[in-house]
This record gives sequence, C-alpha cells and structure tokens, in this order.
Amino acid sequence: MVKIALDAGHGLNTAGKRTPDGIREWSLNDKVRDKVVDLLRDYDVAFIHTDGNEGQTDEVLSQRVATYLEAGAASLVSVHHNAFTGDWNTATGVEVYVDRNCTDADLRLANLIYTRLVAYTGLKGRGVKRANFQIINQNKIPAVLCEGGFMDGTEDYKYITSDAGQSAYARAIAEALIEFHGLKKKSASATITNKPTTKTEVCTVEIKVLKKGAKGDTVKAMQTLLIGYGFSCGGKGADGSFGGATDKALRAYQKDKGLSPDGSCGPKTWAALLGV
Ligand SMILES: [Zn+2]
Repeated sequence: MVKIALDAGHGLNTAGKRTPDGIREWSLNDKVRDKVVDLLRDYDVAFIHTDGNEGQTDEVLSQRVATYLEAGAASLVSVHHNAFTGDWNTATGVEVYVDRNCTDADLRLANLIYTRLVAYTGLKGRGVKRANFQIINQNKIPAVLCEGGFMDGTEDYKYITSDAGQSAYARAIAEALIEFHGLKKKSASATITNKPTTKTEVCTVEIKVLKKGAKGDTVKAMQTLLIGYGFSCGGKGADGSFGGATDKALRAYQKDKGLSPDGSCGPKTWAALLGV
C-alpha cells in the first residue's frame, strides 16, 4: 500500500489566510483534500494528514514535515489557495511549486498535477515554479505545493468556493497521484474495509458464489449483510449455514434489488450486498 501525505495549508485561525469576505484558506484547502481522498477511495492507498484537529491548530511546518517523513509517506501534496493583495483584485490562475533544489521526481509530480490543474479548472496557468517553502524543502520524497486560484481574485473566488471548482482541483491531484505512483484499485475483499461496521465481518472472508447447502464464514458474512438490510435468515441469525430461511431471505433481497431471485449469491448479488 502506498502512503500519501496530504497537507491542508495553514489553520483556520491563521492570520491573513482568508478571502476578503472571511472564508478561511484552511477550509478551502481541506475541502479539496477531502475530495482527493474520496476520489482515491477505491485505490490501494493510505493517507497521512500533516495537519489535524480540524484546522484548530496551525501545525508548524517543521512538525508537518516530520509527520509525513516519519509516517513513511511516498509523496506529499500541500494544498493551498493563493492571495495577492488581500482586497478584491483581478489576480487569477493556478501554479504548482517545487523546492528550489528540486529532484526530478518533484518536477514530474508537479507537472502531472499542473497540466491537469490548468485543464480541469480552466484557470490561467501560471507555471511550475520553484521556491524555498519549508513544507516541500526536503529531498527525501517527492513533494509539491499547489496554489489553486486566488482567494482575493474576484473571478477565481467564485470558482474556488464552488463544488465544481473544488472537485476540479481535487481531480487534478488525484489523477496525477494515480499516474505518479501507479496506484492500483483495491481487490474486492479489501474494498470492503471502507464499508460501515456492520459489514466488517466480510473483510476477512473469501468472496465466492453461495447456494443453499453452503456452510462457513462466507455464508455467515452474507447472512450478516442480509440481516443488516432487514431480511431475516431464520431464528439462529447469521449461523453460517445456508438453509431454507437464508435461501428465502436471499431471494427476497434479490427481488428487492431487481436481481434475478435465483437464490444464488454470485458476483452481482455480492456487489449489491457490499455496495460496491
Ligand atoms: Zn496558503
């Protein structure tokens, strides 16, 4: 599993870092980060957040760097929004920063994000730039800092505070990370770990086609899901034995879901049960 560090720049109460009408930069950064996580939810990846406490604390940069390096992150993306004067103005565009003393990997990741950021947001491309920002100033792992539009730019403001704008920014980062790391989708059984707790028992079992007469943990998992959806599998509940009551419950569930009610729990039925 690849670990990726995502940094929402600043904190909610960091002086100055806000739109002229008071929207905090951290909250915009955090929205984009959440969308990146969501876009990559089916991929075999774990995320390290370099800032915590819902923005209440503006972690110092050295601590953020220590957090992602110690956690074994394979890359870092720091999400920011730009500002020019702090009062409404006409500044516009997106840019991605690498360290002054950057590595080839830094540049490659930056370019993968930047080209998409320009394409998906439609905002002016201001380039891949170099700066001595502490959050990206280490040459151990690839690290970039993105500026996704101006908080005080009257046109950019409308876009970056919209769901469409935040989604475009996130999509650029997510797709770049998929390409950069060669991220793979999780296997079906691993995907399930993201499902609500009632489904956690399924995580450890092998998904296979089940019919009446089957026994074992996979049956138990199927029964647990059916019961969770309100289909009784008989008096013993999820007992791991695929008998008449379970057969009836499964067929009722299949009918309810518009699947052929054949009493066979195959790939389509499993997908419905697991919500995948
Ligand atoms: Zn910032």
